[in-house]
Amino acid sequence: MECKSVFLKPGKEESLKRFHPWIFSGAIHHIEGEPDEGDLVKVYTAEKEFMALGHFQIGSIAVRVLSFQDELVNEDFWRRKLTVAYDLRKSIGVALNPLNNTFRLVHGEGDNLPGLVIDVYGKTAVMQAHSVGMHVCRMEIAEALSEVLGDTIENIYYKSETTLPYKADLGPENGFIKGGCTDNVAMEYGLKFHVDWLKGQKTGFFVDQRENRVLLEKYAENRTVLNMFCYTGGFSFYAMRGGAKLVHSVDSSSKAIDLTNQNVELNFPDDTRHAAYAEDAFKYLDRMGDQYDLIILDPPAFAKHKDALRNALQGYRKLNAKAFEKIKPGGILFTFSCSQVVTKENFRTAVFTAAAMSGRNVRILHQLTQPADHPVNIYHPEGEYLKGLVLYVE
Ligand code: SAH
Repeated sequence: MECKSVFLKPGKEESLKRFHPWIFSGAIHHIEGEPDEGDLVKVYTAEKEFMALGHFQIGSIAVRVLSFQDELVNEDFWRRKLTVAYDLRKSIGVALNPLNNTFRLVHGEGDNLPGLVIDVYGKTAVMQAHSVGMHVCRMEIAEALSEVLGDTIENIYYKSETTLPYKADLGPENGFIKGGCTDNVAMEYGLKFHVDWLKGQKTGFFVDQRENRVLLEKYAENRTVLNMFCYTGGFSFYAMRGGAKLVHSVDSSSKAIDLTNQNVELNFPDDTRHAAYAEDAFKYLDRMGDQYDLIILDPPAFAKHKDALRNALQGYRKLNAKAFEKIKPGGILFTFSCSQVVTKENFRTAVFTAAAMSGRNVRILHQLTQPADHPVNIYHPEGEYLKGLVLYVE
């Protein structure tokens, strides 16, 4: 297939020389061959030197780079990329681990596959395209995925209805590309949980908090725990395994509360230490007493775009201030932000301000981030999105 070409303005290849995987539309001088969104294009300097190839997009990011070499993007290409990704997950101990069958196999730019996310839950891989290019390639990718993972997976569910650019008008439908099994109990470090990949948020579970949940487990013994924004209850069942005295899970979505109750029941049947409440976080924090000495705040992204940053920071400030106000002396606060546009410094300042408002003596015990199966491409620092602080509140 003839490849279309993008020519950069003079000097605009600098970021590509540093392997940054995005080309902004403003860097482009002209385009040859009238590519459609999702087409593969080759990128050249003004002097016609090959720089990269990638998927063409409409919008401020015009090309997402798949390779800095002039190579074919075919099934063999996907197979090689997925093999590298799988090897990484095996080497960090999250894949082929008898106690853990839940991991992120592909994390977009972090795996040099911009626009693609693949999460594995037991025998099912959930594939999500964030770019038209990846949507176009989905069958080839699925084929390569089957080969690379072999019989460790039986189902591939494609879930891109809400992640593809709306304007592209692709009308993608969620559905199985392979298999169709709906037995959906997966395992994370020995704890079981139901994954609702058909209707759940993201690919069905927040895989990115795995290592932070492990840390929480260590702090849970004999504590009274509040898991705010619990979704499927991940932090709650780790707290219970860690020996918490009591665990309260709160989420505004009653579906999330049902899932949390199911998951707690799956691991700790008839355990009366747990209760879950469907309620707004701010209302709950206002009305609750001072019974908790371990609080988790893991809200949804308050800012999805740069222009929402100010309000988002105010949101983090308000939320954390309430926790500082109510947490027991000697309490531990796990607080997070998953907004990509909120930097580590932004988040720390918001939490710092909240602490100061409470007048409490607060110390940072741990600074948390996303786990190793959500790697950050060193040439694409924007890929670091999850930030967390573990605080000791006197
Ligand atoms: N901590 C979870 C992931 C949290 S996702 C985990 O480890 O899996 C964010 C959750 O916040 C969602 O489940 C959403 O329903 C919930 N949420 C959003 N706004 C809320 C609000 N105002 N009050 C309480 N929960 C809210």
